[in-house]
Amino acid sequence: MTKLRFKAVALASERKPLEVKKPTSKTSEYYGEKVFNRKAMTKYLSKETFKALNDAIDKGQSVNRNLAEHVAAGMRMWALENGVTHYTHWFHPLTDGTAEKHDAFVEHDGNGGLIEEFEGKLLAQQEPDASSFPSGGLRNTFEARGYSAWDPSSPAFIVGDTLCIPTIFISYTGEALDYKTPLLKALNAVDKAATGVAQYFNEDVRKIISNLGWEQEYFLVDEDLFMARPDLALTGRTLMSHESSKNQQLEDHYFGAIPERVQRFMEELEYEAYALGIPVKTRHNEVAPNQFELAPIYEECNLAVDHNLLVMSVMDKVARKHSFRVLFHEKPFKGINGSGKHNNWSLCTNTGINLLSPGKDTVENLRFITFVVNILAAVHKNNGLLKASISSATNGHRLGANEAPPAIISVFLGTQVSDVLDKFEKSSVQDAIVVDNKKQISLGVGQIPEILLDNTDRNRTSPFAFTGNRFEFRAVGSSANCASAMTALNAAVAEQLFVFKDEVDSLIKSGKSKEEALYEVLKKYIKESRPIRFNGNGYSDEWKAEANKRKLDCETSVPLIYDNYTSKQSIKTFSGILSEVELHARNEVKWEIYTKKIQIESRVLGDLALNHIIPVAISYQSILLTNVSKLKEVSDNYKELGAEQLRLIEKISTHVNAVNAKVHEMIDTRKIANNIESEREKALAYHDNVAPYLDGIRYHIDKLELIVDNEMWPLAKYRELLFIR
Ligand code: ADP
Ligand code: MG
Repeated sequence: MTKLRFKAVALASERKPLEVKKPTSKTSEYYGEKVFNRKAMTKYLSKETFKALNDAIDKGQSVNRNLAEHVAAGMRMWALENGVTHYTHWFHPLTDGTAEKHDAFVEHDGNGGLIEEFEGKLLAQQEPDASSFPSGGLRNTFEARGYSAWDPSSPAFIVGDTLCIPTIFISYTGEALDYKTPLLKALNAVDKAATGVAQYFNEDVRKIISNLGWEQEYFLVDEDLFMARPDLALTGRTLMSHESSKNQQLEDHYFGAIPERVQRFMEELEYEAYALGIPVKTRHNEVAPNQFELAPIYEECNLAVDHNLLVMSVMDKVARKHSFRVLFHEKPFKGINGSGKHNNWSLCTNTGINLLSPGKDTVENLRFITFVVNILAAVHKNNGLLKASISSATNGHRLGANEAPPAIISVFLGTQVSDVLDKFEKSSVQDAIVVDNKKQISLGVGQIPEILLDNTDRNRTSPFAFTGNRFEFRAVGSSANCASAMTALNAAVAEQLFVFKDEVDSLIKSGKSKEEALYEVLKKYIKESRPIRFNGNGYSDEWKAEANKRKLDCETSVPLIYDNYTSKQSIKTFSGILSEVELHARNEVKWEIYTKKIQIESRVLGDLALNHIIPVAISYQSILLTNVSKLKEVSDNYKELGAEQLRLIEKISTHVNAVNAKVHEMIDTRKIANNIESEREKALAYHDNVAPYLDGIRYHIDKLELIVDNEMWPLAKYRELLFIR
């Protein structure tokens, strides 16, 4: 192993940047060339088919068999011309990442040969053998049938020799077994709810689009060094290692020059992304060494989610080509920043208006206030649920670690918008004054600048921040499927907007004017949702105490946080999106995944401790012992001469014994936990009883790393892993 470590260090330091073949045409020319987008459709579909398909997409209607048949024929032709031989339904199971099962286009031609076939029914629906995808008990293994069904709103694309068709994945009895199904339903709900409210201000609004712009943070590690770290390779994070003397103190990595090897990787990644129609725009170094970020231009939420998952798999492939491994884990290294995936979110009308942008006049600003206040109310009512939507065993390491938002959801509005709401709360419709035949509200509401100053004074410590014309949900983890957070957020806002409209409409019915009704309800919401607003330092301990007083969800145990999914409010929030049965089943899956992650970490750490660390520490101790006994041979004063050796011998024994004892206690604790029947209780046992050993054991191993001869230490050290030359 030691040999492996030094060989890896040598290989990594000698590695040259890979030359990338640059496309000869402009980005705009090859953008989307691997996507069956509208451009390809006009070429491969008849006018009628093209129109029918786009109508179905725009109106969210289902595609009938006949239409599917025509689309499949065109898609097949396009795919074959692009060298494609296989197709797959591409879906998001409840595990990490995406799933695909490739089938060749070939069918018997009836004459002993084969022909390339792709029928409409294969495009529209498939029945993958789904018995090993988690369902939380919704689908017994003997009734393993699950269906994948085409999502025409996300265009098919080509990866390698395979045509990938984005699909939803549901059980035989119709329950969602994936992330996409509830997301589509939540997007539909927010469209309906927000359209109703937006029509108070503009009757022409027909549709509301939810937008998402994600910012993907990640680490790169040289592949040989990665292989010299079994913990990293098996769990995605380092379970041990002393901090490097230099890490991010100087903040010299942030926005610094991108190392050449990494630059080549990014270039190739961008070509691939553009060909797949992913509008990536921003790339830069992040705060921690070896940490980077990639962000596209925002897109409609469902498409943006698919693009994020697709880009993550492309990153993994391209990284390997460049002899890197990409780490999406939220906290691969102790002591330096982890990775998040900020979700920038906004609502836009079909008429092109961003509902989260302050407008030019009173009506537009009342609309702006209406949406901001309802979002506040939604986040307040659902703060526990929103936290659950971003909670995982891996993100748990990042949240609250003084680099990322705490495990408490609050909203940062900035001073300007906060002031506007405070004034609004004290105002009345009568305060509005008439200027140029238009009512102007005398509290500055009519004069909110279109570009808010707060754009710059951002609060990095807030998990959910208003940033000028959108909210940025920052608590989302780097490895997460954004669909989880986006489903919860859109569902919460939809439910809130429905309630709001009911209240306003009933006041109007009782004789109030529309303005009066809006004012009355909004003022009530501003008061009620005040506890969710927090502009201060989210990292501070005072905030934790204050948040507790405000009755915000302050739970930090991930398995307990999941209980939020089945609260009374959450069941209301998810009405029409996920049934109570589905919510319970999905929690079973979450607890099971939580348990497995900690279980794997615990096993890997136990094995490494017993087979790598303890033997090496003992070998080094033997050298010291030999030294001391030789000193004894030459001098009676050996205790003084060998004082340091004797001290180290004792220390090594202390740490070795502690590691050994703790590993065995951990194994016993695991055995007890494994016998627990309930997934929830088991996850809790892993959280409360097993996980603490990971830190306890690590502490002693990291001490040993500082004692044992560097030449003998088996695992690549942080200082070797973290600095790409
Ligand atoms: P930051 O300063 O937060 O790092 P970036 O420029 O890296 O900002 O990323 C901002 C993200 O927000 C991009 O994906 C961008 O497209 C997206 N974004 C910008 N405006 C909106 C909007 N109105 N709705 C949703 N996302 C948006
Ligand atoms: Mg950001």
